Amino acid sequence: MTLKERDKKHLWHPLTQHKLHPDTIALVKGKDCTLTDEDGNTYIDAIASWYTCMYGHCNSFVTDRVAAQMQQLDQVVFSGFTHEPAIKLSEALISILPENQNKLFFSDNGSTSVEIGIKMALQYHFNRGEKRNILLAFEDGFHGDTFGAMSVSSLSVYNGPFEDYFLEVKRIPTPNGENHKAILNILEKLVLEHDIAGFVYEPLVQGAAAMKMHNAEGLDQILKFCKAHQIITVADEVMTGFGKTGKNFASDYMDTKPDIICMSKALTAGLLPMAITSCSQAVYDAFYSDDMSKGLFHGHTYSANPLACTAALAGIELLKSETIRQNIQRISASHQGFNERIKEHPKVKSTRQIGVIFALDLNIEMERYGNLRDRIFKFFMDNGVFLRPLGSTIYIQAPYVITESELEKVYQTIENALEIL
Ligand SMILES: *Cc1c(COP(=O)(O)O)cnc(C)c1O
Repeated sequence: MTLKERDKKHLWHPLTQHKLHPDTIALVKGKDCTLTDEDGNTYIDAIASWYTCMYGHCNSFVTDRVAAQMQQLDQVVFSGFTHEPAIKLSEALISILPENQNKLFFSDNGSTSVEIGIKMALQYHFNRGEKRNILLAFEDGFHGDTFGAMSVSSLSVYNGPFEDYFLEVKRIPTPNGENHKAILNILEKLVLEHDIAGFVYEPLVQGAAAMKMHNAEGLDQILKFCKAHQIITVADEVMTGFGKTGKNFASDYMDTKPDIICMSKALTAGLLPMAITSCSQAVYDAFYSDDMSKGLFHGHTYSANPLACTAALAGIELLKSETIRQNIQRISASHQGFNERIKEHPKVKSTRQIGVIFALDLNIEMERYGNLRDRIFKFFMDNGVFLRPLGSTIYIQAPYVITESELEKVYQTIENALEIL
């Protein structure tokens, strides 16, 4: 039996309706930008496996470091113990985060990093004797699949069974360069009527909303408003962090810095699951007390796992390297060239780009769309390119180590796909 067949017996895959999509592809190898399946077919990983392995699969700079750490110290309780990988990582990460970030709290994945951001925002006010119980979020946001994260995400048809148990959230539109007056008016009204604890948002790019991008100036105005009203700002940089937008963090594009930043995905260079929620000294200080109960009583068994910390430290060193910096520039420039080539295509409605993130919306009627997404996906895979269209949007977010010829193959395959529509 093939792996693909054996998979069906016991495995339940994420985000999958197995009755409608019974087939999986069994992968046996990943190296740089190439994935190989059990039949020997290869695929260019043009979305860096959900924006995680940005320095390429099985990057030996990262795997060698982790292999060495594995012989030294594998896993310990991070409550009462500490270790060098966590300490070194904290120094390296603080040095690239926006300057107001000063403390790091560990967890295991993007959703939990958001949960912690939400808990920090709510307890910040609670510890100061103020009851604020409402959160603010953007329309079309996505922050993960645990309860707090689902609550601040925009309502999805898939969340129906759980909605009755969500936190209370008020939503505002994303700034498009023209609507920030209107958004500020909505905010003025909201703060009169509600006690808003925190604002959870994806800065500049909403990944799951098909790489929807918004205006930095408008976002800055919203952040300023939140600061003025002691609303704790929680930037979900799980997707945008670590160079994707052309800067270390998307928050670097705004003058006003968030109080809290959520990180995961590329944090560990795609090698191991880990997340960090960072915060300013002011947030931390609201928990620092002689009163035990003012502490943040949240913890995961694998918090600050030494191997994951080692992978993250190696990833940050790569991010800071001249080679990766230049690659980010090169990929951005190539995307601009591709954009010139494709933006007037009759089947393309619109395009957008920031840093290494490129997206195009297909110009097709949604009624006609139906299973077209699956057909396009299959076309890409049959042609050796792993791209995962989101609705009628095709996006590229390849590892920083993708070569020019691999990138050209991705562009060419997208152009060919337009011909089958
Ligand atoms: C992926 C993602 C999450 C959730 O992270 P998981 O590790 O999948 O739980 C949260 N926020 C954003 C912006 C994401 O892209």
